[in-house]
Amino acid sequence: NSTKKLAVVTGANRGLGFEASRQLAKIGYHVILTSRDEAKGQKATQILQNEGLNITFYPLDVTSDESCQQLADFIQEEFGQLDVLINNAGIAIDSRDEGNSIFDTPIETLQKTMETNVYGVFRVSKALVTLMKKQKYGRIVNVSSGMGQLTHMDGGYPGYRLSKTALNALTRMLANELQINNILVNSVCPGWVKTDMGGSEAPRTLEEGVDTIIWLATLPDGSATGNFFRDRQPIAW
Ligand code: NDP
Repeated sequence: NSTKKLAVVTGANRGLGFEASRQLAKIGYHVILTSRDEAKGQKATQILQNEGLNITFYPLDVTSDESCQQLADFIQEEFGQLDVLINNAGIAIDSRDEGNSIFDTPIETLQKTMETNVYGVFRVSKALVTLMKKQKYGRIVNVSSGMGQLTHMDGGYPGYRLSKTALNALTRMLANELQINNILVNSVCPGWVKTDMGGSEAPRTLEEGVDTIIWLATLPDGSATGNFFRDRQPIAW
């Protein structure tokens, strides 16, 4: 048991999750870097450990109840505490055709996207929130997207949009129930960021993309909860 704050990041083997792990470790958190692919997760962990950072790898597939429970048991046994959860893992599997209609989208695409981007967040949060409740402290950051804003529902990627709007709703529900335990739950749009998902045309760097994620992960007691942020400002959804 250490007094260092402990953070879990999902989908952290690459992209925004990887960078969020690095930045949290740099400001003194012990980070559990999780990945559904063990080899990729180990490799990412090694890179950050070589930078002198305090990172531990643990496998986590957010679509599996069993996997989430194993992570919760591991943290309980090894640390007995959890301070921060970054629900970052996400997929965008819609057709890349900008004019793509929801009627051209197989229901399996919608279901699969919801399973990871919404129920995955619920599953991980449910498994880990007990550790936060016990210590009456927690920060949960759900990585959402401006594509989930209801004023922008017609630009393609229907499955992805549906999932991120639902994630913002889930954020509000979790926030309402957890506020009493000093657990703040917010969602964030990182902007359009250069990653495998964002593509090489994206204007933002990883460092810029994770800025608001880290800010929300480290909010002082009594701060906002249940809101959606971009560039450290609350935005409508
Ligand atoms: P990447 O595609 O680069 O990374 C996604 C990560 O999620 C990967 O590590 C991937 O693992 C992981 N993942 C997918 N499914 C699962 C699962 N079932 N269990 C565990 N991990 C899983 O994307 P980004 O880094 O760009 O995206 C991170 C988050 O940011 C996502 O939620 C995305 O929707 C959001 N976002 C990104 C934007 C951007 O411009 N990049 C804009 C707005 C939001 P694996 O390597 O095994 O596939």
